[in-house]
Amino acid sequence: MNYSITHRTKSFLNVHQIAFLMFGLFSAIGVVVGMIRGINYFFLFFSIGMFEMNTRILIAFYPKLRQALRIAVQGLIGLFFIFWLGMAKGVNFQFPQIVFDFYNGIITGAVIQVVVSRLLLPFVFGNAFCSRACWAGFFFELTNKKQPDLKPLKRNDTIAYAYMLFLVALAAYVVFIWKPLQNDDFRKNWIIVENILILAAGFFMTYVVGSRAYCRLLCPFLTLSSTIAPYSFFKITPVNAANCVNCMKCNDGCPMLIDVHSYVLKNQSVNHKICIVCERCVSNCDRNVLKLSSKFSKK
Ligand code: SF4
Ligand code: SF4
Repeated sequence: MNYSITHRTKSFLNVHQIAFLMFGLFSAIGVVVGMIRGINYFFLFFSIGMFEMNTRILIAFYPKLRQALRIAVQGLIGLFFIFWLGMAKGVNFQFPQIVFDFYNGIITGAVIQVVVSRLLLPFVFGNAFCSRACWAGFFFELTNKKQPDLKPLKRNDTIAYAYMLFLVALAAYVVFIWKPLQNDDFRKNWIIVENILILAAGFFMTYVVGSRAYCRLLCPFLTLSSTIAPYSFFKITPVNAANCVNCMKCNDGCPMLIDVHSYVLKNQSVNHKICIVCERCVSNCDRNVLKLSSKFSKK
């Protein structure tokens, strides 16, 4: 098989422009959400934008720290979401809460999270929330393990949508039939138990059905954003495909088990719907073949 590739891609936006774009985007979201939900939400999104912008600039200077910096920011944002907003303030970000909100006719963190991170941001950065802000994703980043001897279970969209519908049905049962959510203590316990169950299930699934199993196979948030991610403005792109030596380290690094190398061979952006834009494939490639780039990169 002839693996020789002779294309070279020029990036349309440089790293600083991407960084400022991220900051501008999050600040704009902050203004809109702040007008709906109060000034604290403006500061929340503004701070996320600042973190993301500074991280991208730091990564440009210290590319070897790309993963450490990304995971540190993911930890900071994700743990803030779950411990401060979730446990301390009682804001539940998990999927069933969306049904609870619709029932109560209110907008809380769960709806805001879905609209911003799963319906708007995917048009720009795909499923990047999974690798930059999700607290469950942060836990799975730290505990994920690729097992060479294991033949991982492949994603099945029917199962993923069935799981999402199951959560909606469960939430509907809770609000319409069981009705325990008027009680504040019960709500907080619900948040704790729900998140522990997800983390525990994801942790064990990884060892049975392969890398990032909960995210890859079930997560309802990823199921939603994955419908938009293929149209994302930014994607992992082979910017220097001619340099590829077919070492397959990009594939080895991918927690979502995507065949990144096949995109390099075709000199195409990684258009895979469950790419979480973690840039591990970028970090793993010693030949600087891959880069997070805009879809208007000039070939
Ligand atoms: S890691 Fe880089 S050089 Fe190796 S196969 Fe992937 S793109 Fe090619
Ligand atoms: S293709 Fe690259 S950026 Fe996408 S999930 Fe795999 S390693 Fe992460």
